[in-house]
Amino acid sequence: RKRCIRISTGSKQLDACLNGGFQTMSISEVYGEFRCGKTQLAHTMSVIAQLPIEMGGAEGKVAYIDTEGTFRPERIMEIAERFGGEVPRFPFPFPGANATVVDPDQACENIAYARAQNSEMQTELLEGLASNFTTNEFRLLVIDSVMSLYRTDYSGRGELSERQQALGAFLRRATQMAEEFNLVVLMTNQVQSDPGASALFAGADGRKPVGGHVLAHASTTRLLLRKGRGEERVAKIVDSPDCPEREATYIITTGGIND
Ligand code: ATP
Ligand code: MG
Repeated sequence: RKRCIRISTGSKQLDACLNGGFQTMSISEVYGEFRCGKTQLAHTMSVIAQLPIEMGGAEGKVAYIDTEGTFRPERIMEIAERFGGEVPRFPFPFPGANATVVDPDQACENIAYARAQNSEMQTELLEGLASNFTTNEFRLLVIDSVMSLYRTDYSGRGELSERQQALGAFLRRATQMAEEFNLVVLMTNQVQSDPGASALFAGADGRKPVGGHVLAHASTTRLLLRKGRGEERVAKIVDSPDCPEREATYIITTGGIND
């Protein structure tokens, strides 16, 4: 039987709220307005996932589906520097393998990166990863962001139910993969810009994630990110199977998400 693993977010405060970090075998979703750090969190976790278990990592490779073209290898290298370049080279024996000190370039090589141009391609890329995942080396799958291409591809009136159907198929497959391959599936998501819609939603800030019930039901853990005072950012746990609704503050640094 597979054992659930948690991957640290880079912020001790946020990790504490999440009982150690985001867990494998289900979908985790972070949503919030622009510049609140969703993509930076995805980059930070792409490095941490590779680290030894004792460092909050999962000693695993990372798959990254980028729908907005905001992935930056230079950021991965900067974040890897923060952890002393202690990124293991693959393949290596695990669990409990000793980290080998390597160049931050290795941190990038451990990330299977793909840019999706439309929602159909997003699904195809996910399916294509299944063969990579059978090697059992991967522990994190990032989708940044889950809804943007669906929103562009199904923007017409009357296309919503079609969109939700396609989205549902994508999310079912992602959930299956999370369970089968023991992956943290980290999805970023946008918030609705229509303030009227927020009245229907109980979340802090009155902000509602896009994706409707289909995405709400697929996400096991949901976090709302928002800007705080000055450089501070705030994460609120909105939905979790094992953590109470709590808030944590974090900052974005050269070394990624931190306290
Ligand atoms: P969007 O909805 O537009 O995709 P996002 O939530 O993904 O937004 P990010 O791109 O993760 O936002 O975060 C952008 C923020 O990260 C900016 O405020 C920027 O100043 C900060 N940032 C980016 N790189 C660094 C860095 N090297 N050091 C410190 N802060 C940084
Ligand atoms: Mg982003």
